Amino acid sequence: MIGLFAFIFGAVIGSFLNVVIYRLPRGESVVFPASHCQSCNTALKPYHNIPIFSWLFLRGKCAFCSEKISIQYPIVEILSGLLFMSIFLKNDLTLATLGIALTFLTLLTLAMIDFYYKMVPDSLNLLALTLAIISVNDPQMLGLNFVNALLLAGGFTLLRFYLSYYLYARTKAFVKPTKKPSWVRNYNPMPLYFEAMGEGDIMVAATMGAIMGIQLSLVAVFLSALIALPAILFVRGEDAESKRLPFIPFLALAAYIVYMLETPILAYLKVLYA
Ligand SMILES: [Zn+2]
Repeated sequence: MIGLFAFIFGAVIGSFLNVVIYRLPRGESVVFPASHCQSCNTALKPYHNIPIFSWLFLRGKCAFCSEKISIQYPIVEILSGLLFMSIFLKNDLTLATLGIALTFLTLLTLAMIDFYYKMVPDSLNLLALTLAIISVNDPQMLGLNFVNALLLAGGFTLLRFYLSYYLYARTKAFVKPTKKPSWVRNYNPMPLYFEAMGEGDIMVAATMGAIMGIQLSLVAVFLSALIALPAILFVRGEDAESKRLPFIPFLALAAYIVYMLETPILAYLKVLYA
């Protein structure tokens, strides 16, 4: 029963997340105006806002202008529902569990925005990190969560320095040095894509640290790189920006997998390093 309620609750929030995913990158308010069709601008009726079902009843089309509604809407709602359900079934029914579920929903939103727009809104990243740190049953854990967040952020920053330097050093020989244009100060000839990770990824790593501690976070970072490897081969693009692989979807997915499989992974690590 808890699972069903959690699924419905998650799907309703997912319906709101769709609005955030659409409006935040466009700099629009996520609260006003009320939901409207992106094509004909007609305000939606309340029964057009029922998660998953509205899309099914309308057969993926606007009720007023019949313009297609992206399948992203029911997918995000279903994913949000499943996320909430799985986390509430795994943990006890506490405020901390609600906080952790909301953290993962925020990560899902970040992943979608990074995937579609290749941008990472600081507001969402800070929300995820704050939720991750304060989602505790025992106030004494706050300090530990904070320290774990700092360690992961620091470790990720160092890793980023090493990787960027390594990639730069390897490819430097093939890149012709360009002349510094006279009007540019602080000219950096290193193209953007030598930056191995974005700053947004560091914040997500910190969030992971706060949710599941150092050991599991390291497993998750490793797993995210493994999942991302095949994707890197398929990234095509003309310029540096279109070649950048959005990494947050992989980090968020790996974080979720490792969090759900926490018990067997910790048991395995114990055997491995016994
Ligand atoms: Zn319409």
